Amino acid sequence: MKFNLTVLGSGTSQGVPIIGADYPSSFLANPKNHRTRSSIYIETDEICLIIDTTPDLRTQALREGIKQVDAVLFTHSHADHIMGLDDCRRFCAINNHQPLPIYADSKTMNDLERVYSYAFKSKYTPGYFKPNPYIIDGEFVIGDLKITPFEQEHGNMGSLGFLFEQGNKKQLAYYNDCKKVSLSAINAAEGVELAILDALRPTEHYSHMNLDEALTTAYEIGAKETLLTHLTDFYDHDRDSNNLPNKVLFAYDGLRRNI
Ligand SMILES: [Zn+2]
Ligand SMILES: [Zn+2]
Repeated sequence: MKFNLTVLGSGTSQGVPIIGADYPSSFLANPKNHRTRSSIYIETDEICLIIDTTPDLRTQALREGIKQVDAVLFTHSHADHIMGLDDCRRFCAINNHQPLPIYADSKTMNDLERVYSYAFKSKYTPGYFKPNPYIIDGEFVIGDLKITPFEQEHGNMGSLGFLFEQGNKKQLAYYNDCKKVSLSAINAAEGVELAILDALRPTEHYSHMNLDEALTTAYEIGAKETLLTHLTDFYDHDRDSNNLPNKVLFAYDGLRRNI
């Protein structure tokens, strides 16, 4: 059973480094401190999918050599999660000029339809992007994955977290862009192989978990391994990794796991 994960981006909405800021040369020298906007890529025996389409999608796909995407899942419609959608035109072309299945709740889908109205409303023209929309309103199946969505607090917007099960195995809990993970999402993820959690920065934030909140949630879930993501430039990967508990790591762009 194959379940391969690649972290496409581990950064917050502005990416790291941010525009117009100065950093110590030691910070910039570490590739793990260069964070594109947060997204992951999952490959199983039956399906290749991507969560969110960041403004960095093209760079991420070229960097990781991604040649196939069968579906896109959206957590919510903040710009750092949707603005690379048009670059998925290549995956339509590669997939015999088929529309690309995209999965989102109705609120996010409405926003996608507004932003990319040309693509939703037009007939499919080879070479251009064409979505095939599916509304998430409960548990759903793509390929060999059973996916359970969970509503999350995320400022005025809200977001979805996803639990991925393959066979009878809980493979991945992806709970990003959230101020809090609900008790039902925590309980559902019990025994999961890998959890990926929003841990924006050490200090408090109104719509994201800070480091303490993420570590508490990591402990409550008790995954075999937890990756912290959506990271700001408050974190220096190597310096701050020393202060993390066992089995909790900072994600970084290009990190891979074969679960
Ligand atoms: Zn975000
Ligand atoms: Zn967000």
